[in-house]
Amino acid sequence: MIHFLIDGWSKHICQDLIWSCYEIGLRLGTPFLIDSVGAEIAADQVVVGYRGPAAVGGVESNRYLSLPVALSDPVEEMPCGHREVSGRSLWIPRETSEPDVISGVLHLLRFFHESQIGDHERDDLSRIPPTRHPLAQAGFFIEPLLDNNVEYLRARLSQWGMDIPPPCPWGKRGEYAVCLTHDVDGPRLHTLFALARSAIYALRGDRFERESAELGLLSWLMRRPDPYWNFAHWQSLEHGLGIASTYFFHPGRVPGIRRHPRDPRYETGSPPFTRVLLELRGSGCEIGLHNPINGHSLAAYQSAKEKLEKCSAGEVSGCRGHYWAINWKDPLASWRGMQQAGFSYDASMSPMALGLRQGTLFPTTPSGHWQALDNGDRFTVFPTAVMDSYTVPRAAGTDHHFIDQAMDRLLKSVIQRRGILVLDWHVRALSNVGAWQGYLVPLLKMLKTLMEDSQCRFLTLEQARTHWSRYAKDLCVGIMA
Ligand SMILES: [Zn+2]
Repeated sequence: MIHFLIDGWSKHICQDLIWSCYEIGLRLGTPFLIDSVGAEIAADQVVVGYRGPAAVGGVESNRYLSLPVALSDPVEEMPCGHREVSGRSLWIPRETSEPDVISGVLHLLRFFHESQIGDHERDDLSRIPPTRHPLAQAGFFIEPLLDNNVEYLRARLSQWGMDIPPPCPWGKRGEYAVCLTHDVDGPRLHTLFALARSAIYALRGDRFERESAELGLLSWLMRRPDPYWNFAHWQSLEHGLGIASTYFFHPGRVPGIRRHPRDPRYETGSPPFTRVLLELRGSGCEIGLHNPINGHSLAAYQSAKEKLEKCSAGEVSGCRGHYWAINWKDPLASWRGMQQAGFSYDASMSPMALGLRQGTLFPTTPSGHWQALDNGDRFTVFPTAVMDSYTVPRAAGTDHHFIDQAMDRLLKSVIQRRGILVLDWHVRALSNVGAWQGYLVPLLKMLKTLMEDSQCRFLTLEQARTHWSRYAKDLCVGIMA
């Protein structure tokens, strides 16, 4: 067992440091205890110390690893960046000789790496275009920087004989988790709006949308099935592979939520949707909320959740923002609101390109910032590293070679660290025609690789959350604050 000692800090910083050690402990994968009060420590205990300016007394343990401390108060003023240390890319405070991995982890957890991005660099939904993101600009979108800080600590511990094998959060040793998810945006082409939309793009010269418009009109006139209505096809594909996925549905009209022009147009309470919601639930899939763009207040979270639960006759425990549009100037505030509304997790953390927005291949627990981590009621955030359009060269604005390399590196890292890979494929993308031509092949390629690997474990996001939560409970022996 490891004993994290973080005494001598003001209360304000202490809570965040406990959170940072908690995330590190879970990634190390060995039982740990976090102590911020400086309780008595037995001489034979492994102690990892990150002691503040007001810490008093020495540490008796003869296995005491004192970590370098670069942190000052307030935390916000500590600039961090990337540095190569012993062959690893770490995210640590600049201008320090020894790497302060605890501060580096906290910096990423608190999104300080994004705090310098001004309004003029963000889009109209406060999102950061991927080319503007500091991690992308440094060439580290694919690199698990936060997890690398933990690997550095693992290596330090191993130097004095404490060998800790990689973590085992998903069941059997060696397993990594994959969650297939579907955002339900525009799942019908046979509507006046969808046909007109495709036709307008076609008139502007988009040959893929022209195909959509022609196919939509033709299949509608010939009374053929709607090419974008693919729920049954997804189900048969996934049943065949023995996996269940998570669907994020827009709630439709909700009193108090102003519809944004880019929100999906369907009404979740109407018959084809209520029918499909029940079918999906019946087949073991999970239903989550696809938050409307203007639906990011506590009241909006509550009423949208309530409506979708009513329409789908079951609990909705997770969500993901449509257009990833949570409040990216203060994501912790968005997550706190989601937790207050009764959600257990969010899957909106995407850098809007292939990659890792916070440098981690594991879930994070942002509620560590605002509440005690040992009270059981935690809120989890899943990184979504891969979305359909990021794997299609014409949509991602890059080439096949770059995409293949990035996907390869992501998968290798997930396997090596035993992390989690969240894939997001829109329901309509399975049609693989018109505007969505080429969207299916990258997923099929990926699924083929994963199916051949016995260490891959497919889970719905809620199942992954349950695993992660149990794992955390087993590993975190106690927090003395
Ligand atoms: Zn969406």
